[in-house]
Amino acid sequence: MSVFNYEKDADSIVTITMDMTGPVNAMNAEFREAMLDTVEKLEAETELTGVVFASAKKTFFAGGDLNELLKVEEGQEQEFFDLVQGIKDRLRRLEKLPVPVVAAINGAGLGGGFELCLSCNHRIALNHRSVQLGLPEVTLGLLPGAGGIVRMVNLLGLQNALPYLLEGKRISPDKALAAGMIHETVESPDELLPRAKAWILENKDNEEAAVQPWDREGHKIPGGASYTPKLGQVQVAAPAMLAQKTRGLLPAPEEILDCAVEAAHLDFETALRVESRGMVKLALTKEAKNMITAFFFQLNKVNGGASRPKDVEPQQTKKLGILGAGMMGQGIAYVAAKAGIEVVLKDISLEAAEKGKAYSEMLLDKAISRGRSTEEKKAQLLGLIKPTASDEDLQGCDLIVEAVFENIELKHKITQSTEQYLAEGGVWASNTSTLPITQLAEAASKPEDFIGIHFFSPVDKMPLIEIITGEKTSDTTLAKAFDFARQLNKTPIVVNDSMGFYTSRTYGTFIDEGVRMLTEGLDPVRIDSLGKALGMPVGPLAVHDETSIELTRKFLETWDSMGMKDRWGEQEAMRDVVQKLVVDRGRGGRHHGGGFYEYHEDGSKNIWPGLKDLYFNAGASIPDQDIKDRLLFRQVIEALKCLQTNVLRSVADGNIGSIMGIGAPFWTGGFLQFVNTYGLENFQSRCAELAAEYGERFECPQIVAEKIAAQETFV
Ligand code: NAD
Repeated sequence: MSVFNYEKDADSIVTITMDMTGPVNAMNAEFREAMLDTVEKLEAETELTGVVFASAKKTFFAGGDLNELLKVEEGQEQEFFDLVQGIKDRLRRLEKLPVPVVAAINGAGLGGGFELCLSCNHRIALNHRSVQLGLPEVTLGLLPGAGGIVRMVNLLGLQNALPYLLEGKRISPDKALAAGMIHETVESPDELLPRAKAWILENKDNEEAAVQPWDREGHKIPGGASYTPKLGQVQVAAPAMLAQKTRGLLPAPEEILDCAVEAAHLDFETALRVESRGMVKLALTKEAKNMITAFFFQLNKVNGGASRPKDVEPQQTKKLGILGAGMMGQGIAYVAAKAGIEVVLKDISLEAAEKGKAYSEMLLDKAISRGRSTEEKKAQLLGLIKPTASDEDLQGCDLIVEAVFENIELKHKITQSTEQYLAEGGVWASNTSTLPITQLAEAASKPEDFIGIHFFSPVDKMPLIEIITGEKTSDTTLAKAFDFARQLNKTPIVVNDSMGFYTSRTYGTFIDEGVRMLTEGLDPVRIDSLGKALGMPVGPLAVHDETSIELTRKFLETWDSMGMKDRWGEQEAMRDVVQKLVVDRGRGGRHHGGGFYEYHEDGSKNIWPGLKDLYFNAGASIPDQDIKDRLLFRQVIEALKCLQTNVLRSVADGNIGSIMGIGAPFWTGGFLQFVNTYGLENFQSRCAELAAEYGERFECPQIVAEKIAAQETFV
């Protein structure tokens, strides 16, 4: 039996129910065969009123086969082009049937799934939040290659189609309806098929219903063809806007823009071929390989629980205690209450704790003013947060997270004074950004119930949580932390203990290299600009100002006092900058009235002119590429060291953690994946060059040589 179930009813309407092997329907070899058989059978029908495409899965149709796409290599261009054209040919034949074809969209229809919908004459979707529609290929470094660009441009016009194509937005059925991407919605799954069939019967005698808009005589693309003066302006502005966003680092949006402009200009069939060529080009890029690997395979692996102990039952958190209602504590309270968890928010005074709760109120008011929340939801969420100054209120918490100052004595003290309030089997977690968990756990009576749950700031926006196991942390405790992160809808990576763990330590090398170049006399504007040109969200000096140089001063002080001076390499440049900026001149960073930059009331900023007198040396000059590589390679080398020494337990955690927690450029697919497509041997030789020129911190970690010898990559 085919994976496309073919059923004809008394009205001569054929319903194709897609039920492919595996959990989802996808555009793979099985699809190509099933679709060809189906189209041929439909074309051969002598009595046919219409066709309905439906799905037997929870989702309607998932999209392209990413495993297949990852394997496309140089030399296979023609073969892959023919394959893409083959899919298009089947969809084209479907939309050219003399009867109406309806997509009955019961679940997510994204990417190839939505392209299949676009090849149907009429699209009806179930109005439910599980139904997401759109063309997110761009987020994986690809383009919608099954006619998605060409059909969207013909359907909506160039200008209106571009945001969906370039941003890869996933939208709900009601938004898709308003945008003209679908035609109807129904409120329950049971209505879907009857409505699809009813529409076919209603339109039995309407010849236009079986003809796609772009195949109708006199079809004009909404908004006009690309050579019209109005769209001329779009074409001039769009590349500039795109370059500003992608910094020229992502080939996919550029290719999509090209194909979309062509689609608004060329005849339909030629435009489809241009789109296929674009698809072939992108599938071969290292950016697509990196992004598919990280954003699809590894992200699914991480969120799917690859690092969670398998044999432990789900560990739901019901009552959460938070110690410290400062910047982090207040954010954790908000995300936990949003997930429906009861929260006790404790600080040294009730006033401080209430101030922490007020942060949630502020976020909710903002959400209400944007139409994203309601007074009712606000009251419900705020009702879950109890601010307090009393330890006794922590009674019965099944998880306590401390977010007090980064001070080991204080953290030890509060562990000892409050762990008695934990419910039976409860877990104690620290949100420390750097202090070793094993050492923190020494104060706990049950170190097996102690763990690190490292949030990122701002907590409500940052998607990552870094979970750190101490030497004695038990599997049940790890499972509890992991499940808590998933309850909050965050992505949890799991790492082993080390000072600075994985993310803080690796991020530290980025700001350290920035500071080194500054003290070498390079222009600070150039350092930050090249950091951005590399694809980091901001340059190393700008981000250091945000996280605060004052905090760096405190860290250095803490580590020195713990006997960990220069644990991860010498930090002379950092000490010099901390002394001259923070200690001597009170320039602790953005929230301390300025640091490397001066900040103005209108939101603008400029480099603090004094920096030039302190460090600038007009004679210091190194190539741009070296600046970029120094900033990137330091971080990649640190990530490799974390893998080599088992701080990182998996490559997937390393890549996802670097992208979501440190700001690794998207095009790299994460710091470890970067090495795979840079080439392991190339990476080794570039490290050797940088080490010879700039110091031994660029020496290539041994693990790279080991992988080369084993003919492996970082997977
Ligand atoms: P913060 O200074 O904003 O807040 C600390 C809060 O702890 C203050 O409100 C303080 O009154 C309270 N506090 C102090 N002693 C207390 C006690 N005995 N009982 C209850 N409350 C007490 O600090 P923060 O930025 O929120 O950082 C808190 C922790 O989170 C630190 O360990 C820090 O390293 C870590 N962290 C910070 C960030 C960040 O970006 N700020 C990111 C990740 C982790």
